[in-house]
Amino acid sequence: AKHFKLLVVGGGAGGLGAASKFARKLPKGSVGIVEPHEDHYYQPGFTLVGGGLMTLEANRRKEAKLIPRDATWIQNEVVLFTPTQNALTLKGGEDLSYDYMVIAMGAHLRFDKIKGALEALETSGVCSNYSPFHVEKHFQEVLTFKGGNAIYTYPNAPIKCAGAPQKACYITDSILRKRGVRDDAKLIYATSLNRIFGPESYIEPLEKVACEKEIEVKTRRNLIEVDSNSKTAIFEVLDVDGAPTGDTESLEYSLLHIGPPCSAPKALRSSPFADKTGFMDVDGETLQSKRFPNVFGVGDCMNTPNAKTAASVSSHLKTIDKNLSQVMLGKKPKSKYDGYASCPLVVSRNSAILAEFNPEGPLETTPFNQKKPSRWAYFLKRHILPALYWNGLIKGYWNGPGTMRKFTRMFKSE
Ligand code: FAD
Repeated sequence: AKHFKLLVVGGGAGGLGAASKFARKLPKGSVGIVEPHEDHYYQPGFTLVGGGLMTLEANRRKEAKLIPRDATWIQNEVVLFTPTQNALTLKGGEDLSYDYMVIAMGAHLRFDKIKGALEALETSGVCSNYSPFHVEKHFQEVLTFKGGNAIYTYPNAPIKCAGAPQKACYITDSILRKRGVRDDAKLIYATSLNRIFGPESYIEPLEKVACEKEIEVKTRRNLIEVDSNSKTAIFEVLDVDGAPTGDTESLEYSLLHIGPPCSAPKALRSSPFADKTGFMDVDGETLQSKRFPNVFGVGDCMNTPNAKTAASVSSHLKTIDKNLSQVMLGKKPKSKYDGYASCPLVVSRNSAILAEFNPEGPLETTPFNQKKPSRWAYFLKRHILPALYWNGLIKGYWNGPGTMRKFTRMFKSE
């Protein structure tokens, strides 16, 4: 089997960032990166693509161009992990071995968990900003929308960028108003949560946005089936703890935007790295695998309680940069991930609420009021963050705003 000192699994945001950092530290040829796809997408840009504010091409790069210079790209996918032998198997049967490994496989979209959804996505009116194959369709649907219900759903399962389904709904409101057809539309945000958004401190500002835009927020509604023949979305009604009550509600749609349930990729789910939810079982602070100390996790594939965002990946990278280096020297990992996540909630075609938080509460970077929709937060989302991703994060140079926050905090009273 071909051997690497460090094997990185996944060439998305976290995998490229980790490979870049360690390819600079280790001798040439020490780092291997397994990633099957030829195209790499800046997924946070999908919200803007679905709103006609950016093209899909602008968010796409060839993976080959992004692989760090001194690392080796293995264009294949992992099908089996054998960590007791520090080895893994690729599709086709080839084995690779490693001294250390970073798992950065992301979260998989599971439209298949909603009855009829995969088929419905191929019919008119049904779309999702989450998939590069259905994101442009969303914008087309909004442009040709003639009237009726436009429904935006949020699943009863982990999801990356938990704010994205409601961002899509807000931008749609703006476009329909601009087109002069807003009066013919009923906009519904149907979420399985018992509130509009998880993190407490952004609930009030978001409820205000939804109210001003006349969007009906239906809580405790989990999409379980799409019938594309009758254009009906069927929801199970949940109780306050998120358990099904046994009741269902059916809503007709003209436009249905599906926020897909997400799960860990199959090879990870069935491996000794997974916990019972299927996500990678890591120490929530050091990001080290609980069972295999020579393996670390980065990004959406872990079972850490943070919101799954590219912004979190920056803080994960800062943590594993130090911890994996320590472990390579035979020392104990000491650096701790602070739980940081961020979600610029685009609320119109030119404004956003810049949510930054960890599971304990807000963790805001700027000295300004981030709970109020602003043009500067939209500018950051549209122009600064993509540049930071392409030139900083995936190149292993952006470690998150933690240091900046220590400085700006001196100017902010909370
Ligand atoms: P990914 O970037 O998804 O990469 C995982 C990689 O692993 C993929 O390239 C995949 O091909 C590869 N892989 C999977 N299985 C295997 C296998 N078996 N073998 C080898 N490779 C494998 N984040 C923000 O911070 N702000 C936002 O505003 C924001 N908006 C979003 C909007 C949308 C619509 C979406 C979809 C996401 C958004 N995100 C946002 C989330 C962000 O894109 C993810 O959190 C981030 O990409 C996670 O990085 P990752 O490396 O963990 O996973």
